[in-house]
Amino acid sequence: MKNNSEIISDFSANHPAGWNVEQFRANWFAFLESIVRENSTLIPPRRVQYQVEQAAAFREIVAGWDSMDGFRRLDAWKRLLMIADESSREVLPVCVQCGECCRRGSPTLHREDLELLRSGKIPWGKIMTLRSGEPARSPFDGRPFLLPEERIKIREKEGSRECTFFDSEAGQCAIYDDRPLQCRAQACWDPMPARDLAEQQPFLKRADIFEGVGVLLDMIAEHENRCGFASLADAFEALSRNGGENVDEILRHLSYEDHFRRFVSEKFQVPGTDLELLFGRSFTDMVPLFGYRVTEEPDGTRCLVPDETGD
Ligand code: SF4
Repeated sequence: MKNNSEIISDFSANHPAGWNVEQFRANWFAFLESIVRENSTLIPPRRVQYQVEQAAAFREIVAGWDSMDGFRRLDAWKRLLMIADESSREVLPVCVQCGECCRRGSPTLHREDLELLRSGKIPWGKIMTLRSGEPARSPFDGRPFLLPEERIKIREKEGSRECTFFDSEAGQCAIYDDRPLQCRAQACWDPMPARDLAEQQPFLKRADIFEGVGVLLDMIAEHENRCGFASLADAFEALSRNGGENVDEILRHLSYEDHFRRFVSEKFQVPGTDLELLFGRSFTDMVPLFGYRVTEEPDGTRCLVPDETGD
């Protein structure tokens, strides 16, 4: 059983009355997050944090925290949680550039954004294609869905959903003045402008980008015809139905698609980064979507193995 001094020390560590200002800061965001979660709002907690921390009341509390006695700290803490609760329900209708939208995913481009690409403000290597049928996430509520038609997107940083243009150290967009339409419409306090945009403004397509370049449009059509995303999804569905009998068929799909990309890259001098714009992600890169990964034996033979990493 704990003695009195241990009980007092536990109480101090877990209770605002016993925190110094560093402990206060270390605990504050966790409490704020749980308030936002309880209020079931889609507003990112960091956005609410930004708003509360700009308020005079917050600054006053932090500045005086260490000199308050336990009762006053408790009182100040309660006041702060009430402000956080109010702020999570009534976010000020203004973008404070907290960067949360940029951490949650990169934008999909509209036809009107084409000029940003043509002028070089957004380099070609920074965009990619998601093809019809591929899984994607709703920018409004983060829910997964299957794309009914292709989309052109700004790339995300590897292993995260953060936009490639987001400078996480500075917490800023590197192309803020020239950011795409979706970024301009996105407002975490009101999903309507972005929804209206998605419904009213045509999305950018590869056909718009490569208009007039017949040979590339033919290659894209041929690739869709022979290596459509649905053909890979069907092969994996068959794999789960028949207990692994068609592994070779899937590996043939992967090899053929790799070969197609290499051929186009070499023949038309297309850099590797631009291939994801021309043909979307490679079949090999998409294998993890189906719960598998590709390994290579020392003699170069490729194998398909269940991905147990859970990534
Ligand atoms: S382009 Fe800029 S504003 Fe848009 S998501 Fe990327 S970093 Fe954020």
